[in-house]
Amino acid sequence: MSRAFNFCAGPATLPEPVLKQAQEEMLDWRGTGMSVMEMSHRSDEFVAIAETAEKDLRELAGISDDYAVLFMQGGASSQFSTIPLNLLGEKASADYINTGIWSKKAIAEAKRYGTVNVAASSEDSGFVTIPDQSAWRTSADAAYLHYTPNETIGGLEFDFVPDSGDVPLVADMSSTMLSRPVDVSRFGLIYAGAQKNIGPSGLVVVIIRKDLLGKARKETPTMMNYQVIADNASMYNTPATYSWYLAGLVFKWLKEQGGVEAMGEINYRKAKKLYDFIDDNDFYANPIEPRFRSWMNVPFTLADDALNGEFLKGADARGLLNLKGHRSVGGMRASIYNAMPEAGVDALIQYMSEFARERG
Ligand SMILES: *Cc1c(COP(=O)(O)O)cnc(C)c1O
Repeated sequence: MSRAFNFCAGPATLPEPVLKQAQEEMLDWRGTGMSVMEMSHRSDEFVAIAETAEKDLRELAGISDDYAVLFMQGGASSQFSTIPLNLLGEKASADYINTGIWSKKAIAEAKRYGTVNVAASSEDSGFVTIPDQSAWRTSADAAYLHYTPNETIGGLEFDFVPDSGDVPLVADMSSTMLSRPVDVSRFGLIYAGAQKNIGPSGLVVVIIRKDLLGKARKETPTMMNYQVIADNASMYNTPATYSWYLAGLVFKWLKEQGGVEAMGEINYRKAKKLYDFIDDNDFYANPIEPRFRSWMNVPFTLADDALNGEFLKGADARGLLNLKGHRSVGGMRASIYNAMPEAGVDALIQYMSEFARERG
């Protein structure tokens, strides 16, 4: 059995050395006679695993002591409600930028708790672009400004960090976290479901500026209260211990690769190769305005949708898995996160080129 190239959008491929290390440590973590899965989260061993993961993440992403790092549960989607519950405070409304399906879900959830001002939207364009910031109708009185730096389904990515003035900037970085350098100090809160670029599902990483803690509404469930989670080092209850451990292995692996700068260069190269090929080949197309094409998720269509099934079958046979586009978009999508080796992108391009020659 050999490893395939898995282009799944999430849960996504993990670095092979990480899986191997997890395998080696599965039955007996460093002489403890236990799997990490079987350890008390209060044990010295697990606390050390957890603290090391946080330290490595802080180092990788350049997170200062002004921020708390939380390892929460419930995926990125639970943050769609956790964020308004914690950050709306006394304010009446929050600003949201609508650039695709994940933005819309965040907006729909926030509306349950307060007034949402959609300050800009690219829905009219079919979400192929990002509205210029000069046209955003943000309000100086908003509790926060929420946006989705990378729309995983549409394959649309911001190539800039919005300027939110004194309003805290909140970002759903589920599918772009640690894929390229980002200045964390520009943000009030960053969150990311783990299963794209960080580790297995079941974990969501939240990076929150400490002055934003302690503003949760009274009715906020304890498990969703950032202050409570921060005060208890993300162990108010039993955390997703194994996911946390694996995330820690991924952080170590990222450091060995040269960190986020090095990953950014590799990711840029991988994405550019694939988009260049798509643009140069009449058989394939990607609709996104080039400047805003995602480095992580590359949707593309074939000239004839009737060939989709055959394309996917041929891809599977070569060990190029999970290329089917999201059900709402159709076509194909190649997710090429940090853990997708450049060789995987090369193999995909090779296959796409042969398929177009034979069937185009
Ligand atoms: C995958 C994803 C989510 C949802 O993540 P869950 O952990 O499944 O809730 C939210 N936002 C973005 C940008 C995503 O890519």
